[in-house]
Amino acid sequence: MNTSSYVLITGASSGIGATYAERFAVRGHNLVLVARDKARMDVLAARLKGLHGVAVDVVAADLTRADDLAIVERRLREDKRIDTLINNAGLAQSGSFAQQNGASIRQLIDLNITAVTCLAAAIAPRLAEAGTGNIVNLGSVVGLAPELGMTVYGATKAYVLFLSQGLHLELSPKGVYVQAVLPAATRTEIWERAGIDVNTIPEIMDVDELVDAALVGFDRRELITIPPLHVAERWDALDGARKMLLSDIRQAHPAERYSAL
Ligand code: NAP
Repeated sequence: MNTSSYVLITGASSGIGATYAERFAVRGHNLVLVARDKARMDVLAARLKGLHGVAVDVVAADLTRADDLAIVERRLREDKRIDTLINNAGLAQSGSFAQQNGASIRQLIDLNITAVTCLAAAIAPRLAEAGTGNIVNLGSVVGLAPELGMTVYGATKAYVLFLSQGLHLELSPKGVYVQAVLPAATRTEIWERAGIDVNTIPEIMDVDELVDAALVGFDRRELITIPPLHVAERWDALDGARKMLLSDIRQAHPAERYSAL
């Protein structure tokens, strides 16, 4: 990744995305900021240009709208200066599954799944052909924990984890680095937007600490980066158990415990 390359960050108007923008600007990278709130991104862009002398483009887009999403996809497909996608824009949701309605579920899936996938698909072929580049997807530890009760949100983040693992298998032999970052509760606007009082959360990570840790994982070329996980071996054990399970899948016949009586 050379410093003149562009990093496209979705959800760059606040929270984790805005912090990634700061950090990549400090590293000397040019930026493309994507979110809905153009005024807010313009302020951030002016500050980063002034402080760090980088170029910053602002693209106002609602990634749940097919026409806006198509504009960003096209940019990723065609703009050869962009070698890094930070697939960060995302929404959370409060309340039980029975309290969700179709419109809010669709919005969550459109942003957290459809946009993330289409944007990765837009840049992946070009990066694979170039033999270099980075795709970073923001998942969540909620995607590992149905017990937390955020069922649709957690399911979208489980998808992001699987997507990242699959992309890694396909793209890393072609020189493209894929990272899934799984934060736990982090102090950003996501809580307020989802109607959750952030002060009711017993422990919460500062967004600067979260992004700095995620970038340590990025620099180490980790596939899965879980900043709040204090015992790294737990992930290795979980992934190892998954692989063991796969080794006991036999496709030809059902397991004996399913024999008819
Ligand atoms: P945030 O401060 O609410 O930021 C979300 C960003 O997404 C904003 O820039 C928002 O900007 C943008 N966005 C929302 N809807 C959009 C849409 N329809 N089209 C385009 N952009 C849209 O939240 P955050 O915590 O930084 O979240 C970033 C990512 O981290 C998300 O994927 C989230 O699931 C993940 N995450 C967060 C936490 C946490 O505790 N904070 C934990 C685990 C994972 P506009 O309103 O300007 O569009």
